[in-house]
Amino acid sequence: MAALRPLIAGNWKMYGRRADLAEIDGLWKRVGASARALDVLICPPAPYVAAAAEAAKGGEVQIGAQDCCAVAEDAARTGDVNAAMLADAGARYLIVGHSERRSLHGESDGLVRRKAEAAFAAGLIPIICVGETQAERNAGKLAEIVSRQVRESTPAEGGPFVIAYEPVWAIGGSTTPTMAEIAEVHALIRETLSGNFGARANETRILYGGSVNPKNAGEIFAVGGVDGALVGRASLKAADFAAIILAHPAAR
Ligand code: PEP
Repeated sequence: MAALRPLIAGNWKMYGRRADLAEIDGLWKRVGASARALDVLICPPAPYVAAAAEAAKGGEVQIGAQDCCAVAEDAARTGDVNAAMLADAGARYLIVGHSERRSLHGESDGLVRRKAEAAFAAGLIPIICVGETQAERNAGKLAEIVSRQVRESTPAEGGPFVIAYEPVWAIGGSTTPTMAEIAEVHALIRETLSGNFGARANETRILYGGSVNPKNAGEIFAVGGVDGALVGRASLKAADFAAIILAHPAAR
């Protein structure tokens, strides 16, 4: 399988203010030409997507969003934001099915799939998150849970998408799976995608997410089958996120 263009994505979650958008310019100043062989993405909170896209204009940092309404069309849905609005504001990618949405908002695989379809309809690339909880892992259900999420959260038709493997227990903490475990789960995801999509599965980037930081990024990027990372806390500050990006072998 040919190597895929790496993607390193930052998920700002519900952090930051307009003033923090200066980190985007700071990031590009730090990585600049070294990052041209990678896709670098920042997903700020929805109110800042348009200003982030504006702030990113001088460089090649791309902007994404973190969630959308599953209804693609404009509709009487107070408080909701659809994918077309996020695209219009300057987003290129859309995170769907993050474990915080699955657990705090009860999002099912079916809902995540509909959000990914809404992203396609708006011309966005969905980043579909999957991953097991500690309890599921302890119960020996990792493979069952992750392959089910991959099968049921991905649309049968549509444009390219990205999968982010984010073990729930590794998010926001200080531990990650071993490198061998990451390799094993990424291979399982690739195999599940092949079962669903045939050769097209080889075009899907599979990111690792969960406590990636400047110290462990190089080791994680060296794992076979890892096409980049989805980074939470360490993406908020340009210095940390740049160190992660520069740890990728493609950033030379
Ligand atoms: C995330 O929530 O997507 C994430 C990977 O968080 P962190 O890097 O902080 O573990």
